[in-house]
Amino acid sequence: MPMRKRRAVFIDRDGTLNRDIGYPGHWSQVHVYPYAFEAVRRIRAAGLAAVVVTNQSGVGRGCFSEDELQELHREFGAAFEKQRAALDGFFYCPHYPRPAAAAPAAGCSCAKPGPSLGFRAAAELGLSLEGSYMVGDKADDVHFGLNIGAVPILVLTGYGRKALRDLETGRGRPAHVAENLAAATDWIIEREKRAARISSDHDPRKRSGHDPV
Ligand SMILES: [Mg+2]
Ligand SMILES: [Zn+2]
Repeated sequence: MPMRKRRAVFIDRDGTLNRDIGYPGHWSQVHVYPYAFEAVRRIRAAGLAAVVVTNQSGVGRGCFSEDELQELHREFGAAFEKQRAALDGFFYCPHYPRPAAAAPAAGCSCAKPGPSLGFRAAAELGLSLEGSYMVGDKADDVHFGLNIGAVPILVLTGYGRKALRDLETGRGRPAHVAENLAAATDWIIEREKRAARISSDHDPRKRSGHDPV
């Protein structure tokens, strides 16, 4: 059997893993949703990578420095590791893409919904985007998931309810809408189990009555 690349659950940060309070510049301002640790633990136990992809325009807006953001992510990662729920990586866009006319040099090609963060994560961590998932609370997260060829799931925490309304009129639909990251994880794991059952049903070695010549 050929070695298959690991797939991932890409997870938005603010409003999905933790309460969205605007622009937290320090770990002490971050309130992780209590169910997030177990969700990440279950994702990893299912053989999927758990990768954070986050737009952090607070850097570009001057709310905090990129060093401070990286320090926050170190502490974020350590807190999850302590809960036996290690995250596989943090990929972020630090830019504040102002309107082109106002600041022609400030444009950025890495913010979600653009696919760059996903491509970078796939290259650095050796992931397959096909068959991966994206969980987030904004329309941009759903579109990012679609843009990288992953299965997009919208959660109703954070800005999720607003996003649901936006997505009703716009283009691009989530494959599933979940109350929060815990419910999204339930859905992913059910889907994975179903896929595993189907592929074992089609495995000729497991078909009864098969008599190899
Ligand atoms: Mg968010
Ligand atoms: Zn960017």
